[in-house]
Amino acid sequence: MKRKHWLAWLTAIVVLFVPTTLDLKPAPVNLRAKGEQLIAKWLPTSTTQTKSQEKSDTSDKTPIESIVQGKTLSNTYYYHFAANMPSNAKQMFEDAVATYNATGVVHLVAGEGTAKENRITFFVYSKATSTASQGMIESGHGGPKIIERTGWGAYTVNHARAGLNVKYPQMAIKKSVAVHELGHALGLDHSASLSSVMYPVDHGRSVLSKMDINALKSIYPESSR
Ligand SMILES: [Zn+2]
Repeated sequence: MKRKHWLAWLTAIVVLFVPTTLDLKPAPVNLRAKGEQLIAKWLPTSTTQTKSQEKSDTSDKTPIESIVQGKTLSNTYYYHFAANMPSNAKQMFEDAVATYNATGVVHLVAGEGTAKENRITFFVYSKATSTASQGMIESGHGGPKIIERTGWGAYTVNHARAGLNVKYPQMAIKKSVAVHELGHALGLDHSASLSSVMYPVDHGRSVLSKMDINALKSIYPESSR
């Protein structure tokens, strides 16, 4: 019946996104007592880790953003910069791109990409953080946006964004922040492990942990490469 044929050819587009994750980090100077308490909750008391700490860290899996779970995504992404990008912020994202490409798990290529391809837009914004007086500022935000087209010509793609808050350039225009926000864009969620680049408060970590790479591999399995 014609009607049935029509149904088979019907297509639908579903867009999934979560409000991009805001990232806080301690402000550099003049911390009030309240702020220090807040930071004490998040930051290690020492920057040197013992072997036993490293070992326990490896049991903390890096979580995956819920909207990315179970989706079949190509491991190739096209990335471009928003128009107002200062060169130093661009460089941080270029460094972050190189970090992820070095894993061999994802393949990030400069360019716009098409609607049917995975895309990442890098941007900057300027936002004063209301909690700055409590010792916390927002350093950036980023996240995936999943677009699913079903029916004829079905595809699933991620049109993600990753940004740095240039209101606080000393704190936000950093490779560690760019690596973290790009991690969100690719589908990684916050980790409780200090060795993860997805730890929610920036402490200068820009080297992907084994668990970070394993989480990436589970989003982008061998078959997608
Ligand atoms: Zn984050």
